Amino acid sequence: MAKGFTIELSDIGKSYSQASRTQCIFNQLNLSIAEGELLVLLGRSGSGKSTLLNLIAGIDLPDHGRVTIGSTKLALLSEKERTLFRRRHIGFVFQSYNLIPTLTVRENLLLPLQLNRIDSSLHDRKIRSLLRNVGLEEREKDFPDQLSGGQQQRVAIARALVHEPEIVLADEPTGNLDLDTGREVLDLLDQCVRAAGKTLIMATHSQEVMGRADRVLTIRDQRLSADGIRHRSEANDVVTAGAVSPPVYGGK
Ligand code: ADP
Ligand code: MG
Repeated sequence: MAKGFTIELSDIGKSYSQASRTQCIFNQLNLSIAEGELLVLLGRSGSGKSTLLNLIAGIDLPDHGRVTIGSTKLALLSEKERTLFRRRHIGFVFQSYNLIPTLTVRENLLLPLQLNRIDSSLHDRKIRSLLRNVGLEEREKDFPDQLSGGQQQRVAIARALVHEPEIVLADEPTGNLDLDTGREVLDLLDQCVRAAGKTLIMATHSQEVMGRADRVLTIRDQRLSADGIRHRSEANDVVTAGAVSPPVYGGK
């Protein structure tokens, strides 16, 4: 049985068919992601970054091959079981924030707690702790459209972490933000996720993120390659997991 929440993709094939055309996205893709790893996925638009995140999340299934998370083989779960598994163990951060516009900041964070049936006596503490970590404790009652893009993304980071998932997937999380705001959001994501010991898989075009990553992989020609990219352990100026400041992410 695999330990913890390692992620294994074995011999993955994935194509999309539209009208008479079939497009192969992945062919015999293999990838192992360690628990607590920060993996960055690069690749041109259309190369398959979102597809790969969706396969890991079990939103999409491969045509062949296996995705295994911890000891769970996603293909053996029913659709409903996959939804429950994802809801419990995975947090998402999207390019366009995807907050629910008719809910306040607090209510947006409450949703993953309610969906996971987390004891309501813990809700307030968890929500406050996360909002404090992302610097938005004063904005609990605001609606998303009362916040800037960077602030909305910080709420989205809090939402992705509030139910304490083992894995966080971020799909171009700074794609809608200016450079400085994007940098702040990456700092926060990196800090929150590492302090909480989560695995983070991030698709991005941002050069900023590369120095922080444990591994950078590029999707090219339906495969993953690491060529020409410096591993974090080979860099001098990088933070190691143990050097992160005290946990800012709320406990149980
Ligand atoms: P990226 O995130 O790297 O920009 P995507 O994973 O979104 O790339 O898409 C990879 C390719 O697969 C694109 O050519 C896209 O059009 C195609 N694709 C993605 N999702 C679907 C789908 N549901 N149906 C058909 N084609 C799709
Ligand atoms: Mg994409």
